Amino acid sequence: MPNGCRHLSRKIGPNHPLAGKTVYIPTMAEGSADAFAAVFRWLGVNATSTPPSNERTRELGAKYTNGDECYPAKVTVGDFIRVIEQPGFDAKRTMFFMPTAEGPCRFGQYAPFLAKTLRDNGYGDVQILSPTSKNSYTDLGEISTPFMRAGWRAVVAADLLRKALHRTRPYELVPGAADKAYQESVADLCNTIEKSCADNDCQLQALVASMARARERYRRVPALFDRTVPLIGVVGEIYCRMNTFSNDDLIRKLEGYGAEAWLSDIAEWIQYTNAEQLRKLKLRRRYWSLATVKAKLRWHIQNSDEHAIVKPFKEDFAGYEEPDIYEVFECAQPYLPVTGVLGEMVLSVGKAAYLASHGADGIIDISPFTCMNGIVSEAVYPKLSKDHGGIPIRNFYFDGTQSDLDRDLGIYMELARSYREKKPYTRKFPHYFPKPGESGVLEKTG
Ligand code: SF4
Repeated sequence: MPNGCRHLSRKIGPNHPLAGKTVYIPTMAEGSADAFAAVFRWLGVNATSTPPSNERTRELGAKYTNGDECYPAKVTVGDFIRVIEQPGFDAKRTMFFMPTAEGPCRFGQYAPFLAKTLRDNGYGDVQILSPTSKNSYTDLGEISTPFMRAGWRAVVAADLLRKALHRTRPYELVPGAADKAYQESVADLCNTIEKSCADNDCQLQALVASMARARERYRRVPALFDRTVPLIGVVGEIYCRMNTFSNDDLIRKLEGYGAEAWLSDIAEWIQYTNAEQLRKLKLRRRYWSLATVKAKLRWHIQNSDEHAIVKPFKEDFAGYEEPDIYEVFECAQPYLPVTGVLGEMVLSVGKAAYLASHGADGIIDISPFTCMNGIVSEAVYPKLSKDHGGIPIRNFYFDGTQSDLDRDLGIYMELARSYREKKPYTRKFPHYFPKPGESGVLEKTG
């Protein structure tokens, strides 16, 4: 606790619109949704993530949608209806969290679509919490500022824990040991957020300590690291690539074929929206305005928080550094320039080029069936592959009916292995990978 910290509280009062409600956070990414719910609880709002998706999710998703919606909408609606089916459900005390955004795709329609679906099916009393930058997050009232800052910290920390899992699991000697370290670290993170005080520095210090504990947990996982394991970059539509239910746990399957995955994180999207906000202010000739100063200041604070939270893992992630968002744009420039294209396709293509030039052995793009981001990216991947020594890039589309994923991954891994032998780029490894020529593989010591 920093000197002078008085363990301030920012809990909501009894008249706040969220008082007495339970907020359900859709589990786009396990760990991240839990950490986000912990931020609400830190502010005195009862919140939890939606229960893990299952076959019932798919059934209900199909029943309450008409087929025109994207797959993430189906899964999210299915999970929310499962909450409604729980015994003791009280519509008047329930809120479903459904963020929204402007942009070229259907995501902006999710919140109004969910509201209509609930209304049409007799659940109109359930409220939708849909904070947006357009209304300065006023839905949240006086907690909007602390919520946004702590929410960002939660996103960054949960991204880190997932990244550490993907770094460690392919090399674990005891099956399940890396998953256990991950689960314990997520629980530690959520507990830390929920119990942290309202002082910004104090909370940050608590989160950094939680990350240091997580790093130690991962370092204790018995593991044999091996430079010959192919590294596959995983990009694509944010929901489908993060949500293991929607993508049939593709990364775990990939690991089963002897690969390691580098998954694009959630923070990347938030960095993108920050950069887009500044670009649009400039286009509207408002670059020298209070709005720009505010946006830049917020971004600066986010970067400084991120830097502190990532620090405990710095050494472990040598060679796995995430690019600055402008570097992603630069990598995307020859294919999908950010000044002419909007949305996740820019990030998928830019990150794919970044990963290829940093020694990845293959790229997989995960997208929902009919998602235009995946379709546009797929159209430019052949050129990107040609420009990067022929790196294999494969799109996998999901709509809940994927049947040959195992077979396709097996074939894909053959391509990745053969590219690995001739790739023109060198990959940087952390110190715990044995040097080429060293016999066998070494145990990670930290
Ligand atoms: S990115 Fe694709 S799947 Fe996601 S909301 Fe937009 S159109 Fe739908």
